[in-house]
Amino acid sequence: MRLPALVSREDIISLEKKYVWPPYTSSELHETRQPLVIVSAEGDYLEDANGKRYIDGVSSWWSRTLGHNPPRLKAAMHRQLEELIHVAAGGMTHAPVALLASELAQVAPTGLIRTHFSDNGSTAVEVAVKIAFQYWQQNGRPGRHRFIALSGAYHGDTLGAASLASIEEFNRVYGPLLFEIVRPPDVSAGWDKVLSGIEHQLLTRQDEIAGVVIEPLIQGASGMQIHSPEVVARLRELTQRVDTFLIADEVFTGYGRTGTMWAVDQARVTPDLMCLGKGFTAGMLPMAATLATGRVYDGFRGGDERALMHGHTFCGHALGAAVAREVLAIYREEPILEGVAKRAETVARFFHERIARLPGVRRVRTLGSVGAADLGDSGYRGRVGPKVYEAALRLGAYLRPLGDTVYIAPPLNVDERVLDTLLETLEAAIIAATH
Ligand SMILES: *Cc1c(COP(=O)(O)O)cnc(C)c1O
Repeated sequence: MRLPALVSREDIISLEKKYVWPPYTSSELHETRQPLVIVSAEGDYLEDANGKRYIDGVSSWWSRTLGHNPPRLKAAMHRQLEELIHVAAGGMTHAPVALLASELAQVAPTGLIRTHFSDNGSTAVEVAVKIAFQYWQQNGRPGRHRFIALSGAYHGDTLGAASLASIEEFNRVYGPLLFEIVRPPDVSAGWDKVLSGIEHQLLTRQDEIAGVVIEPLIQGASGMQIHSPEVVARLRELTQRVDTFLIADEVFTGYGRTGTMWAVDQARVTPDLMCLGKGFTAGMLPMAATLATGRVYDGFRGGDERALMHGHTFCGHALGAAVAREVLAIYREEPILEGVAKRAETVARFFHERIARLPGVRRVRTLGSVGAADLGDSGYRGRVGPKVYEAALRLGAYLRPLGDTVYIAPPLNVDERVLDTLLETLEAAIIAATH
């Protein structure tokens, strides 16, 4: 236990209850539950103030792709801390940002050569939407102000990103503030129907559609719904046919989560815009980015009135950029993606052979390091998922569910024995929660 002197676990909890306003939590729950008080996190583990350790089975909201505090990333951060921490991006630049942008252009799908830096995934999406909209405004298609986004989409919580999402629980409250989205048939109708719906919308409303926004291969927050690379390739064809934009939100799927560096790699396509977050700094610091093709960038040439009028105080934070560069160096120099392929087999085998057979489990699916199982049919309001969560905590794993969908998304380089333990813990927790 490494608690700061004079602050007990009980003090922390009572201050938290009295002063903190946490996300996605009712006031009653916030004021009655006992949150985990985390004192340290290293590698695959979290440690609480009672000295109990938990496997971080969801990489702390999918962000700690390389585990907690990898030494190389800590060292890069320390080095940068001694040099330069942050200056405004207005009229100034520095080595970390310039080098990072050039390195991203090397590693991104061919053609994505420009990077706009921001500080969270929602904003990365928000910026992509504004870029697409403004591009058509000033390049001869001013009627293009609508976006197509899928049922089950999640793209973040700021108003623009939330408009794209179609998760009822998130949109119910803010509906009147959100802009209208063109929505193809529900994914539950099957991908053929979704794709032919999008084709129809694109062909009949091509003067209106500024872009199609997708989470390629895995729709994360709506319950780890997986689709094939052909869906992504088809969407690229369809958007190309009417010359509108494909926007890939890789905030979750990027950096190897699905087995390839980018999910769009599996469809062999380059989107016009690509959004990155979460794994961008391997969850070390809040930093995100929107990547664009040269064509998109060129649509903003021609004077002041055509400039992208979007920016943030922390565009291109030097500390974040230094860490993000080291993340790319790790992917270049260490076999991270090969490691995902190996672990993906373990995850797939366990989910299909063991989890799928448990009474109460309705459906399983896996891709890359992600494995998911549906327990009830109540979606976000489901009560079985939270019981699995409680049981897993008792057994030593942090497995925050998405309602009745329980899943793992551990660090990509999770120790293989820890992965086995995590899978067995999930199995035991499901059994405990459904008996
Ligand atoms: C998490 C997530 C976001 C939002 O990122 P934040 O950093 O939480 O704002 C956007 N899109 C997808 C696909 C995500 O998984």
